[in-house]
Amino acid sequence: MNVYDGDRMAELLTDQGLSAAPEGDDADLVVLNTCHIREKAAEKVYSDIGRLRRDDGTAPLIAVAGCVAQAEGEEIMARAPSVRMVVGPQAYHRLPEMLADATHGKRVTDTDMPLETKFGALPSRRRSGPTAFLTVQEGCDKFCTYCVVPYTRGAEVSRPFADLVDEAQRLVEAGAREITLLGQNVNAWTGEDGKGRTIGLDGLIRALAALPDLARIRYTTSHPNDMTDALIAAHGEIDKLMPYLHLPVQSGNDRVLKAMNRSHSAESYLKVLEKVRAARPDIALSGDFIVGFPGESDAEFDDTLKIVGQVGYAQAFSFKYSPRPGTPAATMDDQIPADVMNERLQRLQDALNRDQMAFNQASVGKTCAILIERKGRHPGQWLGKSPWLQSVHFEGEAAIGDIVTVELTSAGPNSLGARLLQPSHA
Ligand code: SAH
Ligand code: SF4
Repeated sequence: MNVYDGDRMAELLTDQGLSAAPEGDDADLVVLNTCHIREKAAEKVYSDIGRLRRDDGTAPLIAVAGCVAQAEGEEIMARAPSVRMVVGPQAYHRLPEMLADATHGKRVTDTDMPLETKFGALPSRRRSGPTAFLTVQEGCDKFCTYCVVPYTRGAEVSRPFADLVDEAQRLVEAGAREITLLGQNVNAWTGEDGKGRTIGLDGLIRALAALPDLARIRYTTSHPNDMTDALIAAHGEIDKLMPYLHLPVQSGNDRVLKAMNRSHSAESYLKVLEKVRAARPDIALSGDFIVGFPGESDAEFDDTLKIVGQVGYAQAFSFKYSPRPGTPAATMDDQIPADVMNERLQRLQDALNRDQMAFNQASVGKTCAILIERKGRHPGQWLGKSPWLQSVHFEGEAAIGDIVTVELTSAGPNSLGARLLQPSHA
């Protein structure tokens, strides 16, 4: 989502007459778009601000955007005098006015969550690579006890159907072949279609699938409780919806899930996956995990390893619990020592890596379509994604944005090799 927000800020500033500075160049303005989800991500901003100081002691105009700006705006202004603008994730459409003030020497902060949404104030999309992000939903009302998102991104809001179809259409006209729909709880998206009927994410996906030049649709990230039967059925019915689902579970233990306020159990999560696999047997599954939530015992952690064994993930993201200021879990008893967390994370990642390798190996010999995203490291080599979101490299006559047919011939932990069978099919 930060990539999406970053693109939108760049477009907005381009309309103000600014242009992107090449990497490594002395930019006049630097916008640091930040993440507050874990402490490590949040701390980065202060070291980045330090690094922007030039040898002669001067610094570019610095803006801090994103969720660290939202949560720690005042602290940033106090700790980092070189920062001139602080702007939250729901207010960045106001950057042009802030910039005007900042260039006149003012230091400005805007961490409002205005009723008017930023989306209405942003310029329409004009540029896109072969793959594009499209934020359809933002914010969260679920209040998991470890998580800052409900505080930094605010309440759950779904963007209107017509705006989304329009933005998708423009992205496709600009070259997007694949669109990934984004939201903190993207499957909680709801809206009214052109005929005034209330629809869910499955209805939005169906409408976007009707755009002729759009070849692939993905969505992330989902909450298990918002995985409706209609959305599950869509996985079996819409060819353009890719066979990949990111569905975080966080822990395999019900006591921990309850303490996390996840409002689902290990069993109800597995039930959802069972239904998804029935609808789309070849689906690749992915998830998020937190180890070392306050009070997590060895036996409770073992339940996380157990659920990993039961699911067989194609890919996954796992994190050490990070206490976030203002969240209920940060002040819970029994915070887990760092060495215990490290050991658990290592064991979990060993298991997840094994499963990812096994999934990749099981793909060898399959024929599939690849959307080419960029050139590879070697001359004549291309890099793209399989329907199951694996990185695939191969050589042959092709171009960025092509969808080609390949046979997968070799597997590594993070990518596969392939042989080009059929150059281009739209
Ligand atoms: N809405 C999604 C997750 C969004 S946050 C969901 O509920 O599934 C992305 C991931 O960051 C989460 O799934 C979780 O695994 C991780 N995360 C969030 N807060 C965290 C914290 N305080 N410490 C460690 N990991 C955290
Ligand atoms: Fe955070 Fe996701 Fe829980 Fe919302 S549902 S509070 S975004 S982890």
